[in-house]
Amino acid sequence: MQISTTLTSTPVDDARLAGILGDPGFGNFFTDHMLTVEWTPEAGWHDARIEPYAPLSIDPASAVLHYAQETFEGMKAYRHADGSVWSFRPEENAKRMARSSHRLALPVLDPADFVQAVDALVEVDQRWVPDTTAPGAGEKSLYLRPFMFASEVFLGVRPAQHVTFMVIASPAGAYFKGGVKPVSLWLTEEYTRAGRGGMGAAKTGGNYASSLVAQQEAIAQGCDQVVFLDAQEGRYVEELGGMNLYFVHRDGRIVTPATGTILEGITRASIIELAREMGHVVEERRFSIDEWREGVASGEITEIFACGTAAVVTPVGALKWDGGEVPCAAEAGEVTTAVRQALVDVQFGRAEDTFGWMHRI
Ligand code: PMP
Repeated sequence: MQISTTLTSTPVDDARLAGILGDPGFGNFFTDHMLTVEWTPEAGWHDARIEPYAPLSIDPASAVLHYAQETFEGMKAYRHADGSVWSFRPEENAKRMARSSHRLALPVLDPADFVQAVDALVEVDQRWVPDTTAPGAGEKSLYLRPFMFASEVFLGVRPAQHVTFMVIASPAGAYFKGGVKPVSLWLTEEYTRAGRGGMGAAKTGGNYASSLVAQQEAIAQGCDQVVFLDAQEGRYVEELGGMNLYFVHRDGRIVTPATGTILEGITRASIIELAREMGHVVEERRFSIDEWREGVASGEITEIFACGTAAVVTPVGALKWDGGEVPCAAEAGEVTTAVRQALVDVQFGRAEDTFGWMHRI
């Protein structure tokens, strides 16, 4: 794919950038440039360009604003000690976006073009990839957000005939500042996120819109995150609003839910391989909420953790629901800590990348 580049005449100055990268939080700041590619049925993907970051002017009748035909991805670029910049398994994000786009009747962007587009933006804005070697710098990264939306100006309900793919980037601070802390979970029995034949396995805005009211309920109940059960039987654990789940058993077995309606994380897939290499038996299967409650009560389940690009691996503490609670783990368990460390060490270039997961930009 041919990408043209127009650099901004007003890049962020060094002092302001240092201030931002000192404590970027999440999703607050955006880099100097953005990448855009257009699609029409006649021309295919065309007009790939990097331009100064700026608001879009969008027609009020653009289809995405009405029918939510869009997909997105979330991934990160990491700076290693020698200054080089790397992404983690970007071709997996590219393939997932292709699957999501297929489900949303959007055109598929070739995975090689996806990776090229992301690389091109990171290269132009590489000053924005935080240094992680300074004392106390922590696990900072540059969060990358590729997304695709129906930009056709038309109010009929059908797949858009004009689609736009973009990549923007936003520096991200360490998810855990004062050490890794367990999250508490609220089990929603009223709301589900995905039905059979629905969009659960796709990364599309509608799934997140539908999760917000349940997340609000979780916060109102004093919990950090919400757990969804399957829509059909209301018995099987699916995932959190933005993370997958793992259950560590006393005998070293690790179970992660597989239902066909979850968003299969790149972190989840990587942990399956990593944990097997560490000698664990990993089972992908249906896992009921009763198995969770009883397993914790009997001591059969020794650790629970959630995983995703944002937090990598997060220990799970309490599970609360309407009328009950299973107890809290006050700290991250041994397996959770080991899996987290192994993954973070590969991402930040502190351990050998035996799986060939890292992609140099
Ligand atoms: N489930 C959902 C619903 C998510 O939004 C995410 C974040 N993309 C995940 C799981 C974890 O996916 P990944 O490991 O690819 O970030």
